Amino acid sequence: MLNVQCSECKKVSELSLQTQPSPFENVVQVFLECPHCGSRIRNHFLSVELIQKQLELRHAVTQWNKHKTRLNFNRLAKERQAYAVLFDSEQEKYRSMLEALASFEKAVAEHGAES
Ligand SMILES: [Zn+2]
Repeated sequence: MLNVQCSECKKVSELSLQTQPSPFENVVQVFLECPHCGSRIRNHFLSVELIQKQLELRHAVTQWNKHKTRLNFNRLAKERQAYAVLFDSEQEKYRSMLEALASFEKAVAEHGAES
């Protein structure tokens, strides 16, 4: 459980991460839902690639905790940076895919599918 302040209603509550399937293969949507106003907080996509990167990052953290060497510090910094970059690019990718899908569905609803 996490103590989180809702960005909409500003109330703090104990929340646990929830997941729902996404329209994309090997990707789920992860979010916290505010029980007061129903807002979704920290909504993001979690792909297999991101899980893989998380494992590499966790490995680097473990190595650093075992041996506090300059090499392990550099590795950890590198993994953190790589994870942040991948996280941002994955969010951007799936968000724009979701928008494209929504506008396609809207066009189909308005004009019917072309065969
Ligand atoms: Zn709220």
